[in-house]
Amino acid sequence: MLDRFSRSGANAIYIKEQLKSQGIYIQSVKQPIDGSTSSGDFQQNIHMIFSHYDNQLRKERCMAGTREALMRGVWCAHKPIGYDKIVINGETKLVVNNEGKLLRKAFYWKVNENLNSEQCVSRLANVGLKVSHQKMSTIFRNPFYCGLISHNLLEGKMVEGKHEKLISKEIFLKVNEIQNKNSFGYKQTPEQINIPLKVFVKCDKCGTGLTGYVVKRKNLWYYKCRSKGCCVNKSSEALNVLFENVLTDFILDSKNLDLMQELLITEFDDRSREGAEAVRLLKEQYQAINGKLERLEERFMSEEITKELYLKYVEKHKEEQLKIQRDLPQFELGSSNPEDCARLITSYAQDLRKMWLSGDYVSKQKLQNYLFPKGIRYCKNTGLVRTEDFNSVFLWIALKQGDLGQKKCGIPSLNLDYAALVAGDGFEPTTFGL
Ligand SMILES: [Zn+2]
Repeated sequence: MLDRFSRSGANAIYIKEQLKSQGIYIQSVKQPIDGSTSSGDFQQNIHMIFSHYDNQLRKERCMAGTREALMRGVWCAHKPIGYDKIVINGETKLVVNNEGKLLRKAFYWKVNENLNSEQCVSRLANVGLKVSHQKMSTIFRNPFYCGLISHNLLEGKMVEGKHEKLISKEIFLKVNEIQNKNSFGYKQTPEQINIPLKVFVKCDKCGTGLTGYVVKRKNLWYYKCRSKGCCVNKSSEALNVLFENVLTDFILDSKNLDLMQELLITEFDDRSREGAEAVRLLKEQYQAINGKLERLEERFMSEEITKELYLKYVEKHKEEQLKIQRDLPQFELGSSNPEDCARLITSYAQDLRKMWLSGDYVSKQKLQNYLFPKGIRYCKNTGLVRTEDFNSVFLWIALKQGDLGQKKCGIPSLNLDYAALVAGDGFEPTTFGL
């Protein structure tokens, strides 16, 4: 099963592409798809997005339970350092352990002796508790230690927890007052804002990922190839816009939305049929084993076989049946809801450019690698970017859309090894083809 391989969707596809570039193709024994062909590759992508979607659903269900527990003050996530989980009268409790008692001291050192975090870290090390500097700051900021629960599922709400307090709220507030005097929240660096395509864009001449730099005097950012002799230097703004234009060519036009969803559902139906076929086969096997068990019993009753032999085979057959029972839900779940999956994919496809523009550095990089598993290449002489590979699902959508004739995308064929995608430079309309 491909969802055994990974359920993280985009990331799974990324890993798959990485393997593919090494000549390794993922094979699923129960979903015999040839990953080396373009249609097989497409199917695998769909499977993975599907698995990801199932996973999201599961997570949502699971999150509802977690949220409910958190509201009651029960901490059910990973236990923070300084606590032990114990069970009293069938109830799980979080209590302060010996490490916690040492951490409690650190809070007091900060308030009473005005030690900074580093000093606290080294003093803790002296009494046998190793904590990194970063971890120390996280501990000082975690309201869990003064008995409160905060969790992103609670959407900013603080709940009085049922766990043992390490320190009072007063001490916690005092420590954080001190901490806040010299602290900054997470901010994107100017580098991350200005050169999101760093490393992702490769120099076409030597294949090295471009790095970036800034001319501070003018506050202008550039991408650059560091290899000797390449002399590639490109204004970051121009290359970012170029990339944006490439994305624009893959955007699903809202007027094609309904039709595209239908086309995708047809694709999914093919896949569901495969799933249904697998379910049918498994159920048949299960029945066949029932038959074997019956015959076995008859033979044992008529003393054709010994008790040892009888028990041995019963166990073997029962194990086979258990395995089938474990496998079945996977097939049935995987083909659960093609409509929702089509909706999910088309909503991504409509928003590619917006998603990229509005994302922070990390999500930009993720999306880039998701869509262009091998990165893109920039050629200094032509001023063009090209890529050898594009995410097959989104390419499929772009091609279908091209077929509809309502939006020209000019991507020549699915055979990406042959047709490197090429985009026009700068502000001109983007064109594809070699
Ligand atoms: Zn180079």
